[in-house]
Amino acid sequence: MRIAILSDIHGNLEALEAVMASLETQPIDEIWFLGDAVGYGGDPEETSRLLAKTGLACAVRGNHDKVVAGIEEPIGFSPIARDAALRTRDLVSPETLDWLRALPKGPVQVNPQTAACHGSWEDEDGYIIFAQDAAYTFYYMETELLFFGHSHRAGVFAEMNGRVFEWPAEPNEEAELQMDARYLINPGSIGQPRDRDPRAAYALFDTNTLRLTLCRVRYDIRQAQMKIVQAGLPEMNALRLAEGR
Ligand code: ZN
Repeated sequence: MRIAILSDIHGNLEALEAVMASLETQPIDEIWFLGDAVGYGGDPEETSRLLAKTGLACAVRGNHDKVVAGIEEPIGFSPIARDAALRTRDLVSPETLDWLRALPKGPVQVNPQTAACHGSWEDEDGYIIFAQDAAYTFYYMETELLFFGHSHRAGVFAEMNGRVFEWPAEPNEEAELQMDARYLINPGSIGQPRDRDPRAAYALFDTNTLRLTLCRVRYDIRQAQMKIVQAGLPEMNALRLAEGR
């Protein structure tokens, strides 16, 4: 089965549309979503609708989804993230608020080997950035594979023979996972990449062949930037898109 894994879209419709267009050119059986449909970007309503329409086979909620839906207040958010999340509450319909509110808490186990979460296995809002964070999650996780988001950095951590390390994965190049290892896989962010590559990021994974690709696609960044400013959202969220940080 071929899975497309999408994460951290953050109301960036141009980026999501570019990803959906690239998915239309290849056989995909399921789409999984790792949270943060909204927050930061200028099109939270259209982005959420497009995502809901794809018929997600697996979905979890992100920290921004929770705040916009009113499940939590933006405690621990940076001022820019907080302002964006609170403004976003006014930019979405009651139907979209209901959809956001219904997104399940991760981790969600998709099959015996694989789970999906927003932050980490042990904390849905926790960050996995360094190998030591990954080692902590490997200790708790009960599956061989965990797809996670939240850091907006595409990448893979592996646990092999008791050692945890960053597993090399080049963008847009297919690589095969090993049966005797465990993996934490971050597809990267569609709507606000922070790994110095401004292109929209997502992942493709084949559950039969264990082949993984961390994909990047170009999209109309200027248009997404304009919409952020027009929506009255913090301008910093527009500026950072061009730099991917
Ligand atoms: Zn995010």
